[in-house]
Amino acid sequence: MDNFDYDLFVIGAGSGGVRACRVAASLGAKVAVAEERYFGGTCVNVGCVPKKLFSYAAHYHDDFADSHGFGWDIQGISFDWRRLVANKDTEISRLNAIYQDILDNNNVDVFEHRAVLKSPHEIEVDGRIVTAKNILIAVGGWPWIPKFSGSEHTISSNEVFSLETLPKSIVVVGGGYIAVEFASIFTRLNCKTSLVYRGDKLLKSFDGDVCDFIAMEMSKNLDLRLNSNVKQITKLDSGLEVELESGEIINTDLVLYATGRKPATANLGLEAAGVTINKKGAIVINDSFQTSADNIYAVGDVIDRVALTPVALAEGEVVVRNLFGKDSHAMTYENIPTAVFCHPNIATVGLTEEQAVAKSIDIDVYLSEVKQLKHTLSGRNERCLIKLIVNQADDKVIGLHLVGPDAGELVQGFAVAINCGATKADFDRTIGIHPSLAEEFVTMRKKRKIAK
Ligand code: NDP
Repeated sequence: MDNFDYDLFVIGAGSGGVRACRVAASLGAKVAVAEERYFGGTCVNVGCVPKKLFSYAAHYHDDFADSHGFGWDIQGISFDWRRLVANKDTEISRLNAIYQDILDNNNVDVFEHRAVLKSPHEIEVDGRIVTAKNILIAVGGWPWIPKFSGSEHTISSNEVFSLETLPKSIVVVGGGYIAVEFASIFTRLNCKTSLVYRGDKLLKSFDGDVCDFIAMEMSKNLDLRLNSNVKQITKLDSGLEVELESGEIINTDLVLYATGRKPATANLGLEAAGVTINKKGAIVINDSFQTSADNIYAVGDVIDRVALTPVALAEGEVVVRNLFGKDSHAMTYENIPTAVFCHPNIATVGLTEEQAVAKSIDIDVYLSEVKQLKHTLSGRNERCLIKLIVNQADDKVIGLHLVGPDAGELVQGFAVAINCGATKADFDRTIGIHPSLAEEFVTMRKKRKIAK
């Protein structure tokens, strides 16, 4: 047959979608993409990139304060939220254009419209039907806020990037990446910040020591309320009154809900195309990212596996290399490094202590808490946590965790070593870079008791 308009039609020009388009086109496929909102998806527009820019802005708060002990006197410090937002918008526009150029330069046909599946090979877009031999769904996710009395007064991470004014106070609800990162950012932009989380451990999928440590560090700088949840929100003339289930009241200017994201699968025509979703609304796929319709694939946040940009990129590439390349490719989810850009950063690769114990792996744990040299003069009461999990059977380092400045930068390199099977002995025979935080990883000698 092969009488299709396209070899591949991609729905969604976010991280996974654009990578898939570019690689498929480079392998000779005729490709089109539909994007109804913005090029680059969540990561570029309302996620990783603007968040990191805001995180840099927040860091200056600490840098100005820390500089005093090093002899600097800085007067007249002020912060202009609108300038930050405007500059961020300029940068995002530049990135949008780069994404569009990638598509244009690879001869990908771009439909700046919503696409809806009509059958396994037909897509309705821009008022007409186009056909494709293969379809890739990479539509991502959307913030989700529970419904309760006053929930209409809250905002999500979609709105937080374009607030007209910086609130004087904010309540952030949730205990995941987004809540922890934004609470960290706002408190450093001189907003009175409360972080309200219903559980007892922030970032509960992280190593238990990391969870406890970051809660301790964050509570030095903001009002952290664990085991606490919002009952209702009332709008007053003076702002918002947040009533917690405990009966406590927090008066605030703004409430940011970061209570998770849901796959954006509504009204996509999935049923017409025979694509099945699970209870969470995520597209069900097999190991090759194939949906219940043979020629339709899905990657990224819409499959609700690992909601991280680099993972979506890798998944998109695997799909199109298998479709249009010569070799077969598989995705591995082992040892995915990840960072939370709170202050201090958290970064991790491999297993947590709890995961290793649950897998019945006999492990040694090395844990160290240090104060950075910098803070001997800055006076800042901030500490770092360094943790290694080692498999006793073969001495391999199977988990590495860091809470400290630039943890994301440091752990990326260690992730390579761990992927290459580095052992504790390899770490130990590596010469440290002195004085640095990273050298702690190669000087850990004392084992800690295992928490069972
Ligand atoms: P997460 O799923 O990580 O966290 C959601 C949080 O909201 C959890 O703490 C959850 O609590 C809480 N929650 C859920 N439902 C309710 C409710 N009804 N009432 C109160 N609290 C509730 O979502 P995020 O929105 O933080 O992030 C989404 C994803 O985006 C992340 O999983 C991550 O993969 C990605 N991301 C990655 C970043 C990075 O790489 N640095 C940065 C930002 C996002 P409980 O645990 O009790 O269920």
